[in-house]
Amino acid sequence: MGEDFPVITEAEGCWLLDADGRRYLDGVSSLWCCLHGHRVPSIDEALREQLERVAHSTLLGLGGEPAVLLAEELVAMVPGDLSRVFLSDSGSSAVEVALKMAFQYWRQSDAAGQRRTRFLSMQNGYHGDTLGAVSVGGIDVFHETFGPLLFETLRVPVPQGLVAAERGDDVERCLAQLRTLLEAEGESLAALVIEPGVQGAGGMSVYPEGFTKDVVELARREGLLIIVDEVATGFGRSGEQFACEAEDIEADILCLGKALSGGYLPLAATLTTERLFEGFHGSHEDFRTFFHGHTFTGNALACAAARASLALCRAPNFLPRARALGDRIAAGLELLDGDPHVLEVRRYGSMFGIELVERCGVLSREGRLGEVTHFDTSLRMGHQVTLQARKRGVILRPLGDTLVLVPPLSMSDAQVDQLVEVTIASIRAATRSA
Ligand code: PLP
Repeated sequence: MGEDFPVITEAEGCWLLDADGRRYLDGVSSLWCCLHGHRVPSIDEALREQLERVAHSTLLGLGGEPAVLLAEELVAMVPGDLSRVFLSDSGSSAVEVALKMAFQYWRQSDAAGQRRTRFLSMQNGYHGDTLGAVSVGGIDVFHETFGPLLFETLRVPVPQGLVAAERGDDVERCLAQLRTLLEAEGESLAALVIEPGVQGAGGMSVYPEGFTKDVVELARREGLLIIVDEVATGFGRSGEQFACEAEDIEADILCLGKALSGGYLPLAATLTTERLFEGFHGSHEDFRTFFHGHTFTGNALACAAARASLALCRAPNFLPRARALGDRIAAGLELLDGDPHVLEVRRYGSMFGIELVERCGVLSREGRLGEVTHFDTSLRMGHQVTLQARKRGVILRPLGDTLVLVPPLSMSDAQVDQLVEVTIASIRAATRSA
């Protein structure tokens, strides 16, 4: 039998309103992108103003004022030496652009560089649903389905274990394997692709502290370019403006999307360094230009929304508020400590994953594990919890049996408390009736 979905007709701050007049707190920022909530007055105003000027003009052969200004603002904002910006319209496209950019850069370099034709990426990583992004993704089910269409990618093993302490103990094994892999294959690798700090769609799996930096340093030592995918973590989510800062790493190529436009319009960016940019210089007949372009690249409305969103991100209270919001949720979710159906609450900044199991014997988050039994997949427990939450007026999304909370950073304390209360009540209602 078909399932009913609320049909959203309006929004107001952090609330979504459906066609039947019901209100829902948007606990996932409409897939992690509506950073400041909905109908943000300054973004709405920027869009109205832009509409009075021009909605879209191509960036192929022309410039566009909002795109130029946005690029300048992004360059001033991002960490490291990133000085060039390529605009597109989804996180997947930002990653495709990054992959092609790295690949073409090496093809246009010396003989040793031209041998760098393959990519290194993280086991269980996620970078989008287009074929290049899936190729460097590490989620098995996508590879099983589309395997014949994908290019071969080498994988960095990621720490295994049911809880954080166990994964911490597994770091050395992974780094040792990475060293061996790089020794054997390093010279054939164009770039490492990595989500910094946390694997988002891979289950809100937070890497052990320092692991991102260790992986990046080993790859860089072998001459690989570093592609950092901050489509999910960019713009305050990590507690810093960019997770590159939180993880103390530098990107050669940085991918941004989702919250870039405040979640208003499809927009993504791939930033790179002067060194890479210069690799594409040459006379016309050398054909060294970057072979990639999208119809809506640099769309004026999307760029205007993004500029208004960035202005909010630069406000002095933005990062302190982001951190306080994450802390408040974490404190509220402590009520789940010891719940036999909650294996672990994972947190990266203001992104949360609550892993649900049929039974576990965790005494505390660092504590000893008893026998762990996972819910039967057919129960769709994560999904059941989201249905319970919806009944209680909150929208959540599951990743399998991991429940995800990524609220707008503009949520008030009272709304955060409601989000946490409903999350806990929904977990209890769904798991107790299973
Ligand atoms: N990269 C990361 C880290 C993501 O989390 C996502 C989407 O969740 C993507 C890329 C793909 O973005 P999009 O869905 O906009 O194509």
